[in-house]
Amino acid sequence: MTRFSTDSIHGHDYYDMETGTFKVPLYLSTIFEHPDRRTGEARKSDRGFEQKYSREENPTVRAFERVVAKLEKGSHALAFNSGMGGIAAVYLSALSAGDTMVITKESYGTTQDLALNLAKFGVKTLLAGPETEDFLEKIKPGVSIVLVETITNPKVRVVDVRKIAKRCREVGARLVVDNTFATPMLYRPLLDGAWLTLHSVTKYIGGHNDLLGGAVALDDSMDLVELWEFRRRLGSIMGAFEAFLALRGVSTLKVRFEAQSRNALAIAEFLEDHPKVEEVYYPGLKTSPYHRTARALFSEDLYGGLLSFKIKGGRSEALEVLRKVQVVKPSPSLGGTESLLNYPIMSASKTLSPAVRKELGIGDSLLRLALGLEDLEDLKEDLSQALSGI
Ligand code: PLP
Repeated sequence: MTRFSTDSIHGHDYYDMETGTFKVPLYLSTIFEHPDRRTGEARKSDRGFEQKYSREENPTVRAFERVVAKLEKGSHALAFNSGMGGIAAVYLSALSAGDTMVITKESYGTTQDLALNLAKFGVKTLLAGPETEDFLEKIKPGVSIVLVETITNPKVRVVDVRKIAKRCREVGARLVVDNTFATPMLYRPLLDGAWLTLHSVTKYIGGHNDLLGGAVALDDSMDLVELWEFRRRLGSIMGAFEAFLALRGVSTLKVRFEAQSRNALAIAEFLEDHPKVEEVYYPGLKTSPYHRTARALFSEDLYGGLLSFKIKGGRSEALEVLRKVQVVKPSPSLGGTESLLNYPIMSASKTLSPAVRKELGIGDSLLRLALGLEDLEDLKEDLSQALSGI
């Protein structure tokens, strides 16, 4: 069996013997011969779905899905036009009126916002966490779906997904793991019994801040069909061009993620010693309360490219730092080549309720930094000059 980087490069399994092409072509065609004139039947993709129209199945997208399935050690994968496109399809295919879903309190704001909005269709959402114990308490018989994030945002907490998966099995709940921040390099939820794992491909997998995408990996063939049908109904398949870019991006995932994780640890240590910084949150720091769980859960001694820190000051000082950074850009998102500084209360955590934000410690003085691939010394100099004036 081949390993991580080999799978990320060759896992699409594309080979055109006729032309000798082994790089995946970009199939912009929205239409395919239907019925297949050789057989008079519908033409099928390699996994048996009809391939006649690109809202349903497209060869470039399909190639990217094969890579995702291999990296996540799943039997199947589906790619979506954004992470939220994938999450919406999962909710709609798996939930019915009267169901209860348990979801991370510190989940991505829109993931939570959409879940809470399902109340109008009779779906009840309970917020749990941020610590593992609270999940174990709230996952009771009758809960149909549990959604956790391997590493949360912005406080970079790591929950014990293995324990949560065991509890889900005991009560018959289906576990969804948003593995966006850990990537399959650190953790593969399906191997611990998660029902499915999902990604905002926009982040580390795409890796260059130039595409929007989502992906879901799973083992169950019946659930694949259900989810595929919802993707078709919603029209939320990944675009072919995005799939082409995602294939290029994912082929360098390992080297990028390692370098970003190294940058993040070095910057976390640098910020810990900075006089204008109150506290640093990063699971790679030995002082982090999540270091032990992360070491036990993650397959590599790496902790991702995301950290957050509290500055000495409030909103005006935080905005001043955002104004002053030069190499680092003030922007949402993460996982690409550029280092991005983000103000959670104006961004990913904006849609959380004020009470939840307060409980999680997401306040005026908190900044989130997503490390890119720039030279470490340039990042340190830039952050120093930006922090010096406050
Ligand atoms: N999941 C997580 C953990 C995210 O951070 C995000 C976006 O930031 C999403 C899902 C949604 O992904 P997208 O922005 O690609 O729709």
